[in-house]
Amino acid sequence: MMNGGKRGIALLGSTGSIGHSTLDVLRRQQDHFHLVALTAGRNRDEFSSQVAEWRPSYAGLAGVANDVQWPSGPEVLVEAATHPDVDIVVNAVVGAAGLDATLAALRAGKRVALANKETLVMAGDLVAHAACAGGGEIVPIDSEHSAVLQCVTGRDGGLARLILTASGGPFREWEPARVWNATVEEALQHPTWRMGNKITVDCATLANKALELIEAHHLFGLSYDGLEVVVHPQSIVHAFAEFHDGSVLAQLGFPSMELPILYALTHPERLPDAGVRRFDPIAAGPLTFEPVRGDVFPALISGIAAGRAGGTAPAVFNAANEVAVAAFLRGAIPFGRISETIERALDAHAPVPASSVEAVRAADRWAREVAQQSVRQ
Ligand code: MG
Repeated sequence: MMNGGKRGIALLGSTGSIGHSTLDVLRRQQDHFHLVALTAGRNRDEFSSQVAEWRPSYAGLAGVANDVQWPSGPEVLVEAATHPDVDIVVNAVVGAAGLDATLAALRAGKRVALANKETLVMAGDLVAHAACAGGGEIVPIDSEHSAVLQCVTGRDGGLARLILTASGGPFREWEPARVWNATVEEALQHPTWRMGNKITVDCATLANKALELIEAHHLFGLSYDGLEVVVHPQSIVHAFAEFHDGSVLAQLGFPSMELPILYALTHPERLPDAGVRRFDPIAAGPLTFEPVRGDVFPALISGIAAGRAGGTAPAVFNAANEVAVAAFLRGAIPFGRISETIERALDAHAPVPASSVEAVRAADRWAREVAQQSVRQ
């Protein structure tokens, strides 16, 4: 990929946390990439200054209807993702809105550097079909999946087990009753990563790790018996990959999304990057590992059960979680009700095969209604 011209990038979700990190990486790597298309949700002011700096061929606001200045509405995501000058789509859209753009980009033969978890959780099999049909490929941005990809790339087969690490979030050592009543401010105090609010709450409930296990199942083809989580409070080791002979490889680095973003753009090659903090084992300090307290963080257990159930169950898990987290963030429910809301939706759901976007969307809508009723009670 480093021969020939610069590769064209579409960045979906430019004003979020991953969007900012992607632009920081691209600023340092302008010899290799150029920004073709840029979309944001509804943050017009910041988007305006980004467009002024980068002058992309295409710019649109996905979260705004009938904007006077730019193309607007949810369809701008697909327009940006399928732009003919785009080689790589960085999908950093938050939530279920990211799915259509991923599918369209894969069908158009693009690489999708994927930070949008909902894409694979809701529709992992559809994504695989779209990639097969159009010649596109998914390369994960999430640090744990990037770590696994870096461990398995260049090694043919033999992958037996993956262990994803979890920081444990701000409530790692809290008593269960205190966790149940945790405030929004407390939930947003992530010990090692700086991220958007939704994913930060998902890290506090450990729902995020369930979403990542479901993604790992689709990305690396392991059954749930071969997928595990360990709590690692320092967030230095991002994942372990065990092979059939018992050998284990891990990928390490100080917590920053810029390296996984750069690797998703260059995989399987690598580019030097002066902006990434060099690893230092002394500065990293002791690395510790603990079991997950599944009784205190039931959203993780529910999410794994949804993954095992398959079909539309993961889409229901995701949608109920989105509704519950939004309700928690606006002060409508206590922290402990997030996992209860998810459990109620999953208990009421009879999964069907996730064999079409319509089936996935229907499950998503149904779960949102059930979860909305649940948070109002
Ligand atoms: Mg992660």
